Amino acid sequence: MEPFRYMRVSDETSALEAVAKNGATMLAGGTNVIDLMRLGITSPPMLVDVNHLPLAAIEEREDGLSIGAMARNTDVAYHPAVRRRYPVLSEALLSGASPQLRNLATVGGNLLQRTRCVYFRDAANPHCNKRKAGSGCAAMDGWTRMHAVLGTSERCIAAHPSDMAVALVALDATVHVRGSQGVRHLPIAGFHTTPGERPDIESVLLPGELITHVTLPATKFAARSRYVKARDRSAYAFALASAAAALDLEGTTIREARVALGGVTTKPWRSSEAERRLVGQKPGPELFQAAAEAAMQGATPRHDNAFKIELARRVIARALTLAAGMA
Ligand code: SF4
Repeated sequence: MEPFRYMRVSDETSALEAVAKNGATMLAGGTNVIDLMRLGITSPPMLVDVNHLPLAAIEEREDGLSIGAMARNTDVAYHPAVRRRYPVLSEALLSGASPQLRNLATVGGNLLQRTRCVYFRDAANPHCNKRKAGSGCAAMDGWTRMHAVLGTSERCIAAHPSDMAVALVALDATVHVRGSQGVRHLPIAGFHTTPGERPDIESVLLPGELITHVTLPATKFAARSRYVKARDRSAYAFALASAAAALDLEGTTIREARVALGGVTTKPWRSSEAERRLVGQKPGPELFQAAAEAAMQGATPRHDNAFKIELARRVIARALTLAAGMA
């Protein structure tokens, strides 16, 4: 690990100033930032420790829920309002990492975690457009079992690693940020970006901006929401395919639906194709299968990951079945 300077701050203005002045990286739980520094993937000149900012509150409101960026994943997952009103978020968080990591990892950090692409994380590999624009992509002719099949480009096929963000997409969350130019309120569905020509740009967060909190609206479909994740082992493993599903039923008709995907996509992915297939219909296995087929239309497999397309279809159908209470 390269030497770096360290600064602890206790208010947002000091954090923004320290980052702007020193080209620093913010340090929250550190579960990803420190990991990448140890691997030699990143070497920021300074870490600005934001753990003491008063941004850890989880507040239930009439119009939804506000979750501070410094709230720990464990605290969010077990919060009574989250479990009651937004079960998909609790399930997604508890499916990620390990209890020790969840105790440290924050909501803000989770949104910004970097890909687990093995070539990205190998400092000896010089060909990674996400680490260095224009350097190539070692994965294209490499081992692609864990890579994405939707949202890819010829420059990068890395899968986004977050479970939490997939649930937030299904819940229509808003990410609130503060920077030197003021505050911005960013819908989660547009917060992360697909790799396109610039895999090194992963979100619309501007340099030096601080995520302050995330809000969830009080939608009718939120309480009927579930998360399903397929992975290589039952704990401490990233998704091969995952799905968050939420349904608002009026009698036996689906009035509104949300379907979001992870593990098979380069960003937390909302499938409007699947949602369109569901709305106005009567829930059931055939409909859920059709929605899953629609969600995976246009998927582009590489050498080792064609299996993910069928796996994702099954995961989506399962999540919808659970959300409909038909399991
Ligand atoms: Fe880098 Fe993306 Fe290629 Fe992985 S898939 S090596 S992250 S450019």
